[in-house]
Amino acid sequence: MLVVQKYGGTSVGSLGRIKNIAAKVRTDVMQGKQLIIILSAMSGVTNQLIENAHFFSKTPQPRALDMLLATGENASVSLLTIALEKLKIKTIGISAREAKIITDCHHGKAKIQSIDGQYILQKIEDGFVVIVSGFQGISTAGDITTLGRGGSDLSAVAIAGAVNAELCEIYSDVNGVLTADPRIVPNASQIERISYEEMLELSSLGAKVLQVRSVQLATKLNIRLVAKNTFNLDNAGTLITNEDEDMEKPDVRAIALDTSKARVTMRGIEDKPGVVAAIFDKLEQASVNIDMIIQNIGHDLKAN
Ligand code: ADP
Ligand code: ASP
Ligand code: MG
Repeated sequence: MLVVQKYGGTSVGSLGRIKNIAAKVRTDVMQGKQLIIILSAMSGVTNQLIENAHFFSKTPQPRALDMLLATGENASVSLLTIALEKLKIKTIGISAREAKIITDCHHGKAKIQSIDGQYILQKIEDGFVVIVSGFQGISTAGDITTLGRGGSDLSAVAIAGAVNAELCEIYSDVNGVLTADPRIVPNASQIERISYEEMLELSSLGAKVLQVRSVQLATKLNIRLVAKNTFNLDNAGTLITNEDEDMEKPDVRAIALDTSKARVTMRGIEDKPGVVAAIFDKLEQASVNIDMIIQNIGHDLKAN
């Protein structure tokens, strides 16, 4: 069975944790699984690298910044490769260049254009566990690019699609998808199965357990996706599929919170054609992303 497993930042957050993953990978290999492992940088590393760049410049050269950020994931890959070698598991760690993950040239938020799965599949055929750096690709110009924050989830799904894997498992520090972020709602309960559509909505509203672009791609490629907990391997996690069997499922599945958004109320806007358009023009020029607009006719109490 060909399986893609992605381990996030907390899962590889220390050398001890990487050692635990190596032991788990060994068990899976012993059970006959063929594994492609996608890794994130150790938790905190990407933020630290960004901070380091900002020490010199608040607007670092995007190409140089991507080169820097990619090192976080590459370090994780090398460490797990070495840990697995010690366990006598035939392993090869590869970068995005070898995995032929081709992206456009938008540094910091590159889009994947293609992946040639043949190289990875050949290594699998040769009996290797293949470990790939998440979050990055190589642009059509040949430069290292990164895919946007949380992008290792996307790498995993895209690679699962390219090699036609049976399953893509995303390991983080929670039991899967819960009815709310357990950091905010500690008694949130686990969802056993969720449809792509519902997951897409949850992720786009801020539930970062699965990065939104990865869910979009999984939907498009119909990838069997499971969100699981590295620290609680007995838990089956959450299955995200297009099968929507539960006819009597509740209308509200989960609640999401996005703290990166601001709500702004503009009062006293003249009710005249062109006025609102002029405001949006200005916002667009300033690259302000608008997510939701609620327009109503109100009465300013002070004005009355
Ligand atoms: P990783 O670093 O492994 O990619 P993330 O931090 O990106 O992991 O995602 C896991 C986190 O997502 C959890 O620690 C949790 O706080 C958060 N989260 C937000 N909403 C949800 C939700 N509905 N279900 C589960 N986790 C959620
Ligand atoms: N290391 C990157 C980040 O922190 C990518 C990832 O972890 O998915 O955003
Ligand atoms: Mg993540």
